Amino acid sequence: MADDCIFCSIANGDIPSEKVYENDEFCAFRDINPGAPVHILVIPKQHIERITDVTPDSGPFIGRMILVANRIVQDEGISDSGFRYVINCNRDGGQEVYHIHMHILGGRHMGWPPG
Ligand code: AMP
Repeated sequence: MADDCIFCSIANGDIPSEKVYENDEFCAFRDINPGAPVHILVIPKQHIERITDVTPDSGPFIGRMILVANRIVQDEGISDSGFRYVINCNRDGGQEVYHIHMHILGGRHMGWPPG
């Protein structure tokens, strides 16, 4: 856990959030500024700043994170209609919070390419 990380504070309950899922390794909560009718962030509880910091040793958690997200899109009723998973990285990728998180966006049609 990083002392100054907002997502670590959400994961440990110091900052309130609307959690939709939690297990030992991950938590998922609704984005405070939603960009779609369904906008949920899935984070590992372990503090890793960015997707490019993932190593061969730590990497397998990514697959488990996808499984968590797949369960959430089922629960949210957007699995069949469609959705988007997004991981932003660094400045040009639009990353604002430096704790790995995967956006789940759904409930409307998504344009391509993203802005
Ligand atoms: P990114 O630009 O990929 O780093 O996305 C960070 C996301 O975190 C943005 O969509 C924010 O709206 C969201 N966010 C920031 N603070 C909070 C918070 N306290 N609770 C929920 N979502 C947040």
